[in-house]
Amino acid sequence: MSTANAYLTVRGIDIDVIYKDIKNLHIGVYPPLGRVRVAAPERFDDDQVRLAVIQRLPWIKRQRETLRAARRQSEREMVTGESHYVWGLRRRLKVVERPGRTHFEVEGERLVLFTPSTTTAEQRRSALDQWYRQQLREAIPGVIQSWEQKLAVSVPGWTLRRMKTKWGSCNRATRHLWFNVELAKKHPDCLEYIVVHELAHYFESNHGERFARLMDKQMPDWRRRRDQLNGSPLAEEDWGER
Ligand SMILES: [Zn+2]
Repeated sequence: MSTANAYLTVRGIDIDVIYKDIKNLHIGVYPPLGRVRVAAPERFDDDQVRLAVIQRLPWIKRQRETLRAARRQSEREMVTGESHYVWGLRRRLKVVERPGRTHFEVEGERLVLFTPSTTTAEQRRSALDQWYRQQLREAIPGVIQSWEQKLAVSVPGWTLRRMKTKWGSCNRATRHLWFNVELAKKHPDCLEYIVVHELAHYFESNHGERFARLMDKQMPDWRRRRDQLNGSPLAEEDWGER
């Protein structure tokens, strides 16, 4: 079975497209960020896929809103027993209430929060956010450095940011990179994939065939990493022939 891949941007939404030996177009919206992936029959071309996506935009937007609402609802209480993902591993939270500075430590399989009993859930969530950022600040420089060498480029600067629908982004004019704080919850392979993806934009602005070829050459398993990053779909629908 032959497959080809493309990235499209439709009305500001990035779409991952895979062409396969299948009968019907298939659209999925994937948590946590609502990434959109399309599996299309080989007889389709990019324009036909674009058109199909435009027709399904209201549905896609509804799915994304559902995801966002679910994220808000699942706001964590920050109590013992909850699970929190760290670098792709699900860790049980243990809260140790004691006076002193609020901080996190990984102990065995657990994530331990040391904090005074008076801190609120909000303060604890914010401490966790800071801890995730710290994890990334420690991990990212090494990854960037090794890929700067492999690709013979240099990165002038990068910033962590919470983004609603993107794992990373790149300003081609300034070459500055942004990374989503949520990456600290994913396997390190995913972080590396995003770094390479954003660096690939130094060479290619669009997610076209040349972009895919560049990724294939530099990181042959990038599709696996991308799928690992985007997880299983929140919602999927098959759209029959029309
Ligand atoms: Zn991109």
